[in-house]
Amino acid sequence: MSNVKDLPFVVVGGGIGGLATALGVAETGRSVYVLEQAPEINEVGAGIQLAPNATAILSRFGVMDEINKTAVYPERLVLMDAITGKELSALDLGESFKQKYGHPYIVLHRADLQQALLKACLDNDKITVLTNQAVERVEDLGDKAQVVLADGTTYVTEAVIGADGIHSKTRKLFIEDQPVASHYVAYRGTIPMNEMAAQAGTNMDDVIMWIGPNLHLVQYPVRRGELYNQVVVFKSDRYKEDSDDWGTPEELDQHFGKCCKPVQHAVTFISRQRRWPMYDRNPIENWSKGRVTLLGDAAHPMLQYMAQGGCQALEDAAYLSDCLHEYGNNYEKAFSVYQTERIPRSASVQRNARLWGEIIHAVDPIAILLRNNLMENRTPQDTSHVDWLYSRRYGAAKVR
Ligand SMILES: Cc1cc2nc3c(=O)[nH]c(=O)nc-3n(C[C@H](O)[C@H](O)[C@H](O)COP(=O)(O)OP(=O)(O)OC[C@H]3O[C@@H](n4cnc5c(N)ncnc54)[C@H](O)[C@@H]3O)c2cc1C
Repeated sequence: MSNVKDLPFVVVGGGIGGLATALGVAETGRSVYVLEQAPEINEVGAGIQLAPNATAILSRFGVMDEINKTAVYPERLVLMDAITGKELSALDLGESFKQKYGHPYIVLHRADLQQALLKACLDNDKITVLTNQAVERVEDLGDKAQVVLADGTTYVTEAVIGADGIHSKTRKLFIEDQPVASHYVAYRGTIPMNEMAAQAGTNMDDVIMWIGPNLHLVQYPVRRGELYNQVVVFKSDRYKEDSDDWGTPEELDQHFGKCCKPVQHAVTFISRQRRWPMYDRNPIENWSKGRVTLLGDAAHPMLQYMAQGGCQALEDAAYLSDCLHEYGNNYEKAFSVYQTERIPRSASVQRNARLWGEIIHAVDPIAILLRNNLMENRTPQDTSHVDWLYSRRYGAAKVR
């Protein structure tokens, strides 16, 4: 029996980017298959922040009602000095912020976001989600595209979007580059709010980022405020390529041992079971070929310091949908316009994430003094530093 099958339109990867892309493709009237390698669609037990540039798109795709069942609307984004415990600056996320950007800043559990997107996909009769589909290679055939799975199954399709994350197999069609190690590592997870609440010493309705030399801690509530999400990040001096013996729990304790009491206390709640080494990639100049293109972390993986990786994947999904609306079955044109719009913006976020990392992790005392001084002079209503990120809606003006 032949293992070559026809599928209409394929998205590789069932992460945030892939599921949102399926919704965007279905919006254009096309039938679409999502191929996910994992046995089920799932996410890690941690939180995610979504800025107005992302919630605008979730709203367009009809997912916000479901998300609102669990999402938390934080009051402020706060930067704290992890060593002195002093507040450095805050951004007010209240009514005037919402009015300005037209959409809210939210925080939620990743699994809740994933399930909301998945539900919207399963409720849509144009979308089919297939699991246990480990894609090995993607090819452009000119008038079709082809997806080959690790088990040899081959799908011949209209077009393919590679949304298969930082280790994307689809990306290999364009470039054989490698992820760039930042030498930073993250430990993250959620704990029941009542276990944390008594001793935290901060407003737990806020998104709080504690920053210090070569380290930071992010905290915010998720799942209707029932869980508290924490991410600790630090630079390991013991980084070695091809080794997992760096960024260890012992190093974590050493780094955070020099922090103020609330930070030291918070870090005791962090699970040491799993570590996430932090990688990104350099921006690339082309990610489309004929009937194949890339999206999300497969296209532009970035360090998480600006909390924009998922937001940018959502922007991609919305703009790609606009291009498919506009250019019909001329996929080459649609993908070319898509990348012309999306590459400069996502590359700028990739580069700014690295830069922001250097700023928040500054070691030099003079740099820290200058940084803190600049931050302390900013009012909570001043949004000038985030306007370029939050107010732009997936470049919609150019196409639709
Ligand atoms: C610590 C941390 C905190 C972060 N915080 C935020 C935040 O607050 N806000 C924000 O917007 N972003 C944040 N990000 C970034 C965000 O998580 C990513 O940018 C986002 O998940 C990218 O989504 P994606 O769908 O492109 O890729 P992924 O989430 O990586 O999904 C890729 C999917 O493809 C599947 N896949 C991979 N290879 C194959 C294959 N060969 N065949 C089939 N399927 C395959 C995978 O199993 C996975 O399901 C953070 C990242 C980290 C590490």
